[in-house]
Amino acid sequence: MSVADSLCLCRERIAAACRRVGRDPSEVRLVAVSKTQPAEAVREAIEAGADAIGENRVQEASEKRPFCPSSPPWHLIGPLQRNKAKPALEVFDLIETVDRFELADRLQSLLEGRSRVVPVFLEVNVGAEPQKSGVAPDQVRALAEHLLTSCPHLHLDGLMTVPPWTADPESSRPHFIALRAQAAALRRDLGVENLALSMGMSDDFEVAVEEGATEVRLGRIVFGERR
Ligand SMILES: *Cc1c(COP(=O)(O)O)cnc(C)c1O
Repeated sequence: MSVADSLCLCRERIAAACRRVGRDPSEVRLVAVSKTQPAEAVREAIEAGADAIGENRVQEASEKRPFCPSSPPWHLIGPLQRNKAKPALEVFDLIETVDRFELADRLQSLLEGRSRVVPVFLEVNVGAEPQKSGVAPDQVRALAEHLLTSCPHLHLDGLMTVPPWTADPESSRPHFIALRAQAAALRRDLGVENLALSMGMSDDFEVAVEEGATEVRLGRIVFGERR
């Protein structure tokens, strides 16, 4: 199947999931996750109307983006090391994986003195899995507060999560509910409105949409198996 056909099918499945819970499909952005795929495939996804491109690695994105149209935005969805923060800001429009104070401070200091404000998501380790990236659920509020009070060049736009992997999409549901609850808590405690919820991948995006995802990150189902 072509990338365009796959995207079209994903949109239909997103729309069906929206109908089941009374949501408007236009609330859900489709992020085409193109890691390991060549620039050619990324261009196909862009031409077919992907709302954003998601990449895990700074280097890989830097190599491909020059060969792609300038819109839509590119999102960093993989872990970011402090020493890659500068090139990450050069290639990405939005960083979904802010998960610690040190990284927020590094991004902030690189942007100081410029007019640019970068939208970021906090990556939450909803399953509280050891060794996994993402801020622990009980630290989300502190990190969000830090962004609001000390990082004027970062705009807190949303929350992102990758639930523990299992073969059953339903097992992701409680984790998606937990992420939505985190957003509700930030609204209540800190007055942060309209947080995006980036959750759901090829195997569980319909469950994520049913639970309020505003952004699904789709790789294999759009591009086929990784190369
Ligand atoms: C690779 C990746 C995806 C896409 O995964 P698929 O299962 O191929 O849809 C989404 N989010 C993150 C953080 C990823 O690393």
